[in-house]
Amino acid sequence: MHQLTLAEIARGLADKKFSSEELTKALLARITQLDPQLNSFISLTEDLALQQAKAADARRANGENGALLGAPIAHKDLFCTQGIRTSCGSKMLDNFKAPYDATVVAKLAAAGAVTLGKTNMDEFAMGSANESSYYGAVKNPWNLEHVPGGSSGGSAAAVAARLLPAATATDTGGSIRQPAAFTNLTGLKPTYGRVSRWGMIAYASSLDQGGPLARTAEDCAILLQGMAGFDANDSTSIDEPVPDYSASLNGSLQGLRIGVPKEYFSAGLDSRIADLVMASVEELKKLGAVVKEISLPNIQHAIPAYYVIAPAEASSNLSRFDGVRFGYRCENPKNLIDLYKRSRGEGFGPEVQRRIMVGAYALSAGYYDAYYLKAQKIRRLVKNDFMAAFTEVDIILGPTTPNPAWKLGAKNSDPVSAYLEDVYTITANLAGLPGLSMPAGFVDGLPVGVQLLAPYFQEGRLLNVAHQYQQNTDWHTRTPTGF
Ligand code: GLN
Repeated sequence: MHQLTLAEIARGLADKKFSSEELTKALLARITQLDPQLNSFISLTEDLALQQAKAADARRANGENGALLGAPIAHKDLFCTQGIRTSCGSKMLDNFKAPYDATVVAKLAAAGAVTLGKTNMDEFAMGSANESSYYGAVKNPWNLEHVPGGSSGGSAAAVAARLLPAATATDTGGSIRQPAAFTNLTGLKPTYGRVSRWGMIAYASSLDQGGPLARTAEDCAILLQGMAGFDANDSTSIDEPVPDYSASLNGSLQGLRIGVPKEYFSAGLDSRIADLVMASVEELKKLGAVVKEISLPNIQHAIPAYYVIAPAEASSNLSRFDGVRFGYRCENPKNLIDLYKRSRGEGFGPEVQRRIMVGAYALSAGYYDAYYLKAQKIRRLVKNDFMAAFTEVDIILGPTTPNPAWKLGAKNSDPVSAYLEDVYTITANLAGLPGLSMPAGFVDGLPVGVQLLAPYFQEGRLLNVAHQYQQNTDWHTRTPTGF
């Protein structure tokens, strides 16, 4: 049963081949058996899952239907779940039980999805390897000595290892698409404002966006449908109708204009990944697409701009965790300053502390114009590059990452080398555009992803292209040995 996709589960439940309760029990047993190798879960929510599964079965018995009704999923552990630990991968929130559900959690629960647990993640979603979690590193099911990507590494490893069909994730600079690429999944970062951020613990508010991680584009369409929509509780949520994403999957690609940016193929890109990217272009050409070289001249400035803006927003967002209003409090503080210093010093790990310092520095009076303001100007230039490109092409295609998943620990002593791995993903966050990563082959037995970017609110177009590609290739069906 663990090989079933969300779409297949919906059909199986509708045809009464199995119940949600049976499926839920089978997957919980599989998680208990296999997850010790991966460490992809921070919390399992067995009682809640069984209760939701029974309720979903009862709704189906009453004639209700729905693609998510009875479907088992898990949430990245930064989505608030009422009465359940919501740790954000941090000691700071190790004992935090959220008093309410995030909008995404509430919407999916209302659609009948069953929550199996909360998945591991980089601390406060800062990272690209899922090694900065207070709960330990997550392993890549394709090779247990390699990282699964981050920050949504727990969601990715769990779905890739067939512990469950799909999971929620978030993407501030690539944390849905990069782990998707590293674990042979399909992951979609929606347009900024498409999915509510209410109850999603903030890292960098102007960049953060929730989205689905699954094995197929078809499943991403199903999960996104349950997540997307206007939310009056999130002031950056956009009041646009949500299209039927599943209905968009079967459009013809005849005449689709694909732009391939020449700047993507620079020295930093593994040539074997470049070859797989071009092979995916050939595949799409067979389906009727036409290809055009384009230019995004300002992408070379995107990493430095992102690594000013994201830490700046993080330093502000994380100021609330002070041991008084929120978060861990140190033992026996001598006075108020000691309480702040030790609560934050002991509660936050080294990567989070580094980012708070970088961000506070960039925002300080003497440096604001030189760093933060300059970074915002670059952000606009990056956006303008995309706006110009999308007058000529319908989607932009390239690699999701310059290299496949690296070995655990390989970049621990050099954070900047990990930052550089985000080169292809962060531009979509700076511009607020939707992006999708889909499986496109293997290098040294490790999965490789191809990234598609589209104009604002064209998630349906991304899903359509990925689905058509997946109807004609089988990379996404490959399963890691041992799982
Ligand atoms: N790797 C990027 C960072 O560390 C992106 C993380 C994310 O998207 N949450 O900031």
